Amino acid sequence: MSKKLRVRFAPSPTGALHIGGVRTALYNYLLAHKLGGTFILRIEDTDQTRFVEGAENYILDSLKWLGIMPDEGIGVGGPHEPYRQSERKELYKVYADELINSGKAYYAFDTSEELDAMRAIYESKGSAFQYNALTRVKLKNSLSMSEQEISDLIASGMPYVIRLKVPAKAEIRFQDSIRDWVHVHTSSIDDKVLMKSDGMPTYHLANVVDDHIMEITHVIRGEEWLPSAPLHILLYQAFGWQPPQFAHLPLLLKPEGNGKLSKRDADLGGFPVFPLEWKDPQTGTISKGFKQEGYLPSAMINFLAFLGWNPGTEQELFSLDELISAFSLERINKAGAKFDVNKAKWFNEQYLKLQDVSTLAVQYLPDLPKKEAESFVHLFLDRITFPQELGEKVKEFTELPTIYEEAVVLNKWNEESQKGLQVLKESLPDLELWEADSIKSFIHVKLEEAGIKMGKVMQMLRVALSGNGAGPDLMISMELWGKEQVLLRLTHAIDAFNKR
Ligand code: GLU
Repeated sequence: MSKKLRVRFAPSPTGALHIGGVRTALYNYLLAHKLGGTFILRIEDTDQTRFVEGAENYILDSLKWLGIMPDEGIGVGGPHEPYRQSERKELYKVYADELINSGKAYYAFDTSEELDAMRAIYESKGSAFQYNALTRVKLKNSLSMSEQEISDLIASGMPYVIRLKVPAKAEIRFQDSIRDWVHVHTSSIDDKVLMKSDGMPTYHLANVVDDHIMEITHVIRGEEWLPSAPLHILLYQAFGWQPPQFAHLPLLLKPEGNGKLSKRDADLGGFPVFPLEWKDPQTGTISKGFKQEGYLPSAMINFLAFLGWNPGTEQELFSLDELISAFSLERINKAGAKFDVNKAKWFNEQYLKLQDVSTLAVQYLPDLPKKEAESFVHLFLDRITFPQELGEKVKEFTELPTIYEEAVVLNKWNEESQKGLQVLKESLPDLELWEADSIKSFIHVKLEEAGIKMGKVMQMLRVALSGNGAGPDLMISMELWGKEQVLLRLTHAIDAFNKR
C-alpha cells in the first residue's frame, strides 16, 4: 500500500501572506482533502532578520477566513510538534552534524569580508564567484585545513557556517508533477550554507529535514522555489532519504500577462494582493485586503482555484467541496496564470446572489426596518459586486432625482409619453393596494383605457421616477418608494420635462 498523503504549507512570517501563497495553501488543502491525506501548516521562521511581528497570526486568520484550515501544525498541534522552525533549532544541528560526520558537509570559516573580497576579484575578471568544488580547496574550510587547525579555530570561538559539499560532476534529475523532468548539473549549484554562524539552519536545511521528519509525501509550492529543488534533492541524497514528490505551481502574472504579479501592479490597478487588510508594523502602511474590499470567501476560493488549474469542463462555479472532488495535480497548468481582478469580481457577483438575504439586510442595512431592508437587498443584489454597495444604492434610491438621463428624455419625451405620465399622475392616487403586482396591472389598465401603449411610456416613467433610463425592477421600486413619493417624483419630472 502506498504511503498516506501528507502535504504542508510552509510560509515564512515575513509580512502579509501574498495571494499566491494563499493559492499554494488552497491547492495543498484540496489535494489533502481529495485523497484523505493530512494538510500541515509549518512556520518557517529561521531567518530572524526577516521576521515580522503579527505575520504568523495573519497567516492563520487568512486561512480561517477562507475555511482552509490545516489538520495538523500551527494552531492545531500534532505528532511533530513544535511546528515553528525557530523552536526546532537543536534538531537541525543534529542533522547538520550527521552530514559533517559522513563527509557530505563541511565547516567554513571565511568571514564575510573575505568572501566579499573574493567576489570582487572574480567580478574584476568578468566572472562570478561560487563557493564550489573548484574554489573550496583554496578557501578557509575543513576540507582545506588540517584537523588541528580546525579544532583550534573552533575552540577559539571563531564563527563558522556549515556548507553542503556539492559533488563536482553530477547530474540531478527529478520528475516534477507539473514541470515533468528537471535536469540540473551540479556545476551550477554552489556549496550552500546549511547552518549559519548564529546556529540557525538556513531555509534549505530546515525545509528538507522537516519535510522528511514530518513524512511529507508531496511538496506543492510556488514556481519561485523550483531553482532550489535540485539542491533539496542533493540534500535528500546526502542524508540517504527518499525525496517527496515535487509539484511547482505556475507563477501568478500581471493582469496583462507580462511578468510576475507585484504589489505595485495591484496598487496601480486598485485591487488587493493580500487576503486580509495588513498594517505593516514597521512603517504603519496599510495594504488593502480582499476581505475588507467585500470579497466573499467562497468567491475567493473559486477564483484562486482557477488561477493555474481548470477542471477540463465548462463549469466555472465550484463550491469548496466540489473543488475537492474535481481537483488533481494533473490538471494544473505549466504556464503562468494571469491575475484578472475582473474575474474575481465576476465570481463575487455570482456568490453574492446566493447569499442569505436577511443576513445581508441585517449586516449592511442595519438602520432600516428589517422587512424594508430585505426588499432593498432583493432589489439590488444582482446589480452590485460587493455587499457594502448596498448602503450607497439605498441612499441613491431614496434621494429625489435632480437630473434626468438626457438621451432618454430626448428620445422618448413626446406627445404620447407626456399624455401617459399625465394619466398616471392623475389616476395613481386612486390605487389602494400599493404593491408591485397591483401597481403593474393598474398602470396597464389605465394606459389601455387612455389608448396609450405601455411600451411607449414605461422608460419615460422610469426616468421620471429615478432619473435613470435603466435600473432595478420598476414596479418593486415604486412599491418601495411609496405612493406619496411616486406622485411627488412624477409631478417634479413632468414639470421639468415640460420646461425643456
Ligand atoms: N518558507 C518557504 C516560503 O516562504 C517555503 C517554500 C517551500 O514550500 O518549500 O514560501
